Amino acid sequence: MVAPELEPETSNSILTLLSEVMDPEIPVINIVELGIVRGIEDGSPPNVIITPTYVGCPATDMIHEMIREKLDAHGYDHVEIKNQLSPAWTTEWITKAAHEKLRKYGIDPPGAHTPSCPRCSSTNTRLISEFGSTPCKSLHACKDCLEPFDRFKCH
Ligand SMILES: [Zn+2]
Repeated sequence: MVAPELEPETSNSILTLLSEVMDPEIPVINIVELGIVRGIEDGSPPNVIITPTYVGCPATDMIHEMIREKLDAHGYDHVEIKNQLSPAWTTEWITKAAHEKLRKYGIDPPGAHTPSCPRCSSTNTRLISEFGSTPCKSLHACKDCLEPFDRFKCH
């Protein structure tokens, strides 16, 4: 049996729908910008390939449910969601556009740079805890404006 070809338009509209699914932990960026949507795999059924930010991330189940709801509501109930753990998600997959949104939201985006305060850009900061609002972020405080902020851990 030949698997039906996935029309490029279908693949694009699925991607558009996925870009309407916001990260439950960071409601200003969507899961495509976060880099966890790795693509749409052709086949019968077609698969949405998801790489969770880290194994065991409590948000992963919620994200699955949100994607499922989105797909079902738009007639893509035959499309399946597949977890792909390798290669592992890296903060480098977060889009540049999302970096700016993170900063505005008060999260220091990932990168090779030293932690910098998303409020006043000062690099005069200190680490408060290796764990911020979620295990994939660390908690810092700015010594200049005293703002506490989360920072994405690079991994
Ligand atoms: Zn500051």
